Amino acid sequence: MYKCSRCKEPVRSGMNTVGLQCEKCGSKVFYKERPNVRKPVKGR
Ligand SMILES: [Zn+2]
Repeated sequence: MYKCSRCKEPVRSGMNTVGLQCEKCGSKVFYKERPNVRKPVKGR
């Protein structure tokens, strides 16, 4: 899952991200969306 770095529009795409372009704003800059993985922070 990728998100447009400009309008935060989620972009559905397969593995092939070559030539990917946001349908909304036409931006070609995307970032990979991270799943909610939080490392448990231990006190000390
Ligand atoms: Zn966009």
